[in-house]
Amino acid sequence: MSDKAEGKIIKVSGPLVVAVDLEGTKMHEVVRLGRQRLFGEVIEIRSDKYSIQVYEQTEGLGPGDPVVRTEMPLTVELGPGMIGTIFDGIQRPLEKIMGRAGNFISRGVDIPALDRDKKWHFVPDAAEGDVVSAGEIVGHVDETQAITHKIMVPSGIEGRITSIEEKNATIEETVAVIEGESGAHHLKMLQRWPVREARPVAERIPPTEPLVTGQRVLATLFPIAKGGTACVPGPFGSGKTVVQHQLAKWANAEFIVYVGCGERGNEMTDVLLEFPQLKDPRTGRPLFERTVLVANTSNMPVAAREASIFTGIAMAEYFRDMGYNVAVMADSTSRWAEALREISGRLEEMPGEEGYPAYLGSSIAGFYERAGKVTCLGSDRRQGSISLIGAVRPPGGDMSDPVVQATLRVVRAFWGLDDRLASERHFPAISWLTSYSLYTREIDKHVSQTIGPEWQRNRTEASALLQREDELQEMVRLVGMEALSDSDRLTLQTAKMIREDFLQQNAFMDEDTYTSLEKQFKMLNLIIHYHHKSREALEAGADIDSLTSLPVLERIARAKLLPEDKLEEFDSILKEIQEQTAETHISKKEYPNSTRNPKSK
Ligand code: ADP
Repeated sequence: MSDKAEGKIIKVSGPLVVAVDLEGTKMHEVVRLGRQRLFGEVIEIRSDKYSIQVYEQTEGLGPGDPVVRTEMPLTVELGPGMIGTIFDGIQRPLEKIMGRAGNFISRGVDIPALDRDKKWHFVPDAAEGDVVSAGEIVGHVDETQAITHKIMVPSGIEGRITSIEEKNATIEETVAVIEGESGAHHLKMLQRWPVREARPVAERIPPTEPLVTGQRVLATLFPIAKGGTACVPGPFGSGKTVVQHQLAKWANAEFIVYVGCGERGNEMTDVLLEFPQLKDPRTGRPLFERTVLVANTSNMPVAAREASIFTGIAMAEYFRDMGYNVAVMADSTSRWAEALREISGRLEEMPGEEGYPAYLGSSIAGFYERAGKVTCLGSDRRQGSISLIGAVRPPGGDMSDPVVQATLRVVRAFWGLDDRLASERHFPAISWLTSYSLYTREIDKHVSQTIGPEWQRNRTEASALLQREDELQEMVRLVGMEALSDSDRLTLQTAKMIREDFLQQNAFMDEDTYTSLEKQFKMLNLIIHYHHKSREALEAGADIDSLTSLPVLERIARAKLLPEDKLEEFDSILKEIQEQTAETHISKKEYPNSTRNPKSK
């Protein structure tokens, strides 16, 4: 790079540097600064002044120091070796850069994202003579037991395969040759992609299939589609980490990308220590065999934090393009937006709300737009998806915060983690009153095909009962329980069962940690069935107290622990509900004076 034009720094302001003499340098081009060759990216060009955000600490950098162009935008390296790695915000392998300089990240280090020496076993999936273009899968590497890394023709390459062979190769060695109009292309397993640009797809498909998570409050009440977007606010101790771990472990996404923008120094360290320890519950193998982690601790420069979210999503798109369903978790996007704010402030841009730049909304939208379900490039018309779950941590939990508001305008599901519920030990502490999902209609259609239309009917009724419970509780607070009719008392009873017997789910209990959609349906069906039968009983003259103390209630409460292969037990509980509720009014008829008269219904 020594022959490239050199510019000169004229000002350093925290993570922002202003340089001159960089004629021809483009927006978003990566440059190297000073003698340490720190990484930076051009983010504003004003006449001859170039503003550069620097991804590393800028101490020691000063006016007069050189700036060298790379003539490349910020890119990620894509190829075997990504899986199970922890990267920093600009895709440097964290363990390796930390290893070099103790626990501190040394600056300006040129360690490539992916190992150049490791040999991978390349197996062809295409043959000599095949005509291929961008996105075509020409071979694979069994990178881990969980993930087959598909080797695809990179963007812009088209032609006939003139040689391809099974071999052990590094990511820089040729595995196939493609002859096209522009000559011979020596295909290597290593590709690059600019992080700020969405990777091309053949077609975007509306997300209608559920991302199965096994978490009852999410799957039944507030589902997310494969390729959908969701926002989770996470007050400390509300169970956000557990929710994320549950999704990473159980969602039917083959690949997980976790982007962490840490709040406190040690918080990210926890993630770095915990994530690699997680076990894939289905296989018993490390979850890390199908995960990539991007980590920013709070002491890393803000610019790297700003870039990290794009680094993460670009890697997710690459795995999506192989035909995988990818789940991306970004935690938290509030810290990311703060980085945006700090840099914008240094650029002296006109501040919008709370000092965030006026383009905050479009930046957030641009990020979530990279989620979705797609038909990938390539003749096999394979499909892939990116489901994007962003955590927000507004200061003081204030939901009117601009980042939260801008996020809610673009995501289609909101899982309102509520610290009040957490303090009552109701887990997952996802509020049924504030959460919502705009995917329910499409997903209902999908789930009803296997489970039947009762799925939707039960869910709608359960939601209505929970809403009604909230109103009734307010009434009880004002005028006391006595004011309620028996029918209202039954509503309170059923709503309590929905909360405790259905929504509460213990992530640490083997029988309870994951519930299939079928079992979820059967569980909720018991409660709704109880509600209907009890209402009939009340109308026939039964007493509310006997209905709220039926022995079968204990069986309903314990139904969550029934194993997935013993779902036939649910039928016997249904029968018992029928018998016991019927008995409450039969006995009433036989002994008309034995219980008090029901109140108005
Ligand atoms: P946060 O990340 O929001 O600070 P955590 O996810 O670490 O909070 O949760 C705090 C604690 O709450 C956990 O250690 C655990 O004891 C409890 N908890 C959270 N979710 C669940 C759950 N689904 N089942 C059981 N316990 C839970």
